[in-house]
Amino acid sequence: MLNLILFGPPGSGKGTQSSRVACRYNLVHLSSGELFREEVRKGTKLGYQLASYMLKGLLVPDNMVLKKIYKAAIHHEDTTGIVFDGFPRTVNQAVLLDRFLNKKNIPVSIVFFMMVDEKELISRMMGRAEDSGRLDDNEEVILRRMDVYEKQTRPLRDYYQKQNKLSCISGMAPVKVVAERISSVIDNYLMKKEIIKLVAE
Ligand code: ADP
Repeated sequence: MLNLILFGPPGSGKGTQSSRVACRYNLVHLSSGELFREEVRKGTKLGYQLASYMLKGLLVPDNMVLKKIYKAAIHHEDTTGIVFDGFPRTVNQAVLLDRFLNKKNIPVSIVFFMMVDEKELISRMMGRAEDSGRLDDNEEVILRRMDVYEKQTRPLRDYYQKQNKLSCISGMAPVKVVAERISSVIDNYLMKKEIIKLVAE
């Protein structure tokens, strides 16, 4: 299985790139934000609880996140791979995801860290605010999400660097160019895996 993680600050393009990668390599795109927004739209009790965090730009507590993600991951167990978008978002979530995937012998393959300047991030999010229809795309909440990202999500970089799985991608270029950069890292990874397999035979 090819399990990928795309992470980066809000507005770094991880959603856009995740869906492109999923399409190109025939993987399941698992976006935690989308899963949560769907639950909110359904108007369930869980949706109501999720919204109370999301609307403030705060992270949803790990127990709620993990329940949703594991359920979705198990549902897609027979797939060629999963692109995790927006998850993990804390080191604790990453440790638990590793435990979950390693137990199934389907570890994380590559982690993409999307790098974009802060000024550009804010302008992108303010720009999309009108079309996105997302209630958390307003200035106050955007700044809170950026702050939460810095404090709680950025440390993932070191966590995956230590595992030698991190690939830093500049997200400042046009969508197509960023997509090509990501693909070339994946193609390299797949090629190396193929060579190792051939040598072992
Ligand atoms: P963005 O990256 O633009 O903030 P997302 O769609 O990834 O957008 O997430 C929207 C919101 O959903 C977050 O601000 C947070 O409240 C919640 N959320 C998404 N994924 C997670 C997660 N893994 N852990 C905790 N909260 C999450």
